[in-house]
Amino acid sequence: MTASSALDQCEQIAGKWRVLIDRNRCEGKEKCAQVCPEGVFSIRRLTDDEFNTHVKGFLPRLKVRAHGRRQAFADNEQDCRNCLRCVAACPEDAIQVVPR
Ligand code: SF4
Repeated sequence: MTASSALDQCEQIAGKWRVLIDRNRCEGKEKCAQVCPEGVFSIRRLTDDEFNTHVKGFLPRLKVRAHGRRQAFADNEQDCRNCLRCVAACPEDAIQVVPR
């Protein structure tokens, strides 16, 4: 069995996973949204409150601003089946999937 066919047969149960996005790393490149078979992600602009609360440090704040404050959000986290495609696809290494 190839690695991709193993992923296609992923039978993990939805509702058991947390999808964590590092606000200091995400650049809103949308790779996660493109590869997720469950439609977990949306991409939108951080609100002022989210930016001030979650993005810490000079360089991360500069980077996030440079990308128009666009980031990924795991709005449909309850549908995640832990296939880890998003983790592999993220060029910023910004995503972790952990048990609830
Ligand atoms: S691990 Fe990532 S790509 Fe796979 S279902 Fe969950 S959020 Fe989607």
